[in-house]
Amino acid sequence: PPAVEFRDVRFAYRRGQQDDRTQVLHGVSFSVPARGLTAVVGPSGAGKSTLFQLIERFYATDGGRILLGGQPVDALPLDTVRGLVGYVQQDSAAMRGTVRENLTYANPHAGEDDIREAVEMAGLATVVAGLPQGLDTELGDQGSGLSGGQRQRLCIARTLLQKPAVMLLDEATSHLDSDSERDFRDVLRRVSRQCAVVAIAHRISTVIDAEQIVVLEEGSVRATGAHQELMERD
Ligand code: ADP
Ligand code: ADP
Repeated sequence: PPAVEFRDVRFAYRRGQQDDRTQVLHGVSFSVPARGLTAVVGPSGAGKSTLFQLIERFYATDGGRILLGGQPVDALPLDTVRGLVGYVQQDSAAMRGTVRENLTYANPHAGEDDIREAVEMAGLATVVAGLPQGLDTELGDQGSGLSGGQRQRLCIARTLLQKPAVMLLDEATSHLDSDSERDFRDVLRRVSRQCAVVAIAHRISTVIDAEQIVVLEEGSVRATGAHQELMERD
């Protein structure tokens, strides 16, 4: 089955009173294949983060269904959902302690081989090798010593160690130069061979080779397809 399936999903945030609601998603349908990169693009306020939060079951849908690996997400135990869905948290304040501690905090039982593999997939092998004490180097507050792109890739490696079926990430690459952007693209390519990756993309250039781009506007899917297909349609 697909990693994630949205079937006619409707959602409104509740603000206090029962009838004070803003409809945010108006019948969203699309599937995320078990492997490959799905990019979600669209203007601010379109509902992209809301999609993520529904996949993680922070909220319940008001209509339609979300399936995770073929199972309705609201019928799965929350722990199962948390295991299946890896959200790449980019909170640099969490980056205290050593590289290893940062990597294993979602999975304290990760073995050395898994750690090495995740570091390689995230394109951090040479970075780690160049640190004074390798994996046991103290990062200091906000991951000092690592660039923004390297910190982001450390967060991806950490999420990989969770071995999720689907990885959610918000590109948030305002600080990336073009070299880092290329590294990031390579990382997404490698990771998306291991699990489904859904990325909120702010720049089309980072996800130009995504298998699927979902264009979300005002809570509705306007188009889905690979970049070339979307261009031909316009
Ligand atoms: P995007 O990620 O595409 O920028 P969001 O999913 O964050 O869009 O937001 C979609 C809409 O839902 C926006 O109008 C936003 O103001 C509203 N919204 C987001 N989070 C909340 C919330 N916690 N409570 C109420 N409204 C929210
Ligand atoms: P900023 O945009 O200022 O960096 P935050 O870092 O607080 O704001 O969050 C960025 C977005 O990521 C927000 O829209 C928030 O809803 C979303 N977000 C934060 N944590 C999670 C999570 N675990 N799952 C899905 N979305 C999240």
